[in-house]
Amino acid sequence: MSNSDEHATCCRLPAVALTCPICKKQGRKVGEVTLDQHLAPVARARFDSEAGFCPNPVCEVVYFNGATIVRKGETVQAVTQKDLRDEVFVCYCFEHTRGDLRRDLTLKGVTDIPDLIKQGIKEGRCDCARRNPQGACCLGNVAEAINEIKRRPLSRPS
Ligand SMILES: [Zn+2]
Repeated sequence: MSNSDEHATCCRLPAVALTCPICKKQGRKVGEVTLDQHLAPVARARFDSEAGFCPNPVCEVVYFNGATIVRKGETVQAVTQKDLRDEVFVCYCFEHTRGDLRRDLTLKGVTDIPDLIKQGIKEGRCDCARRNPQGACCLGNVAEAINEIKRRPLSRPS
């Protein structure tokens, strides 16, 4: 079924597309395990057992269900796609930050963080559905963050 690889053991939720009510871009469905982890009780109470996650960096919405939304800043942890600061995690399972990537790329020109993540996945130590706000594997986000840092190495948004 799957055409990949190391993601198979990692992202157990099916990639169901849902449309963000604000930006109208495609999001993906997340379940209870993700919402329980990333929302404090008041925000958690806005949803039942599932919601959509909006990955669009220019949209403030993190989770949505119909017109009900949770915005950037209302989640327990900062969200990779919504917050470009160096202290924000790009990998929540093994706790690598954007700054970790930037430091490797600045000092060495390369980073072994994607390989460390893949090794952790292979060993069954990742818990993306719970730990990542998008409820799925971080490797795409990590690759994007690396490309962004390479494009603009001196940029440190705050
Ligand atoms: Zn959106």
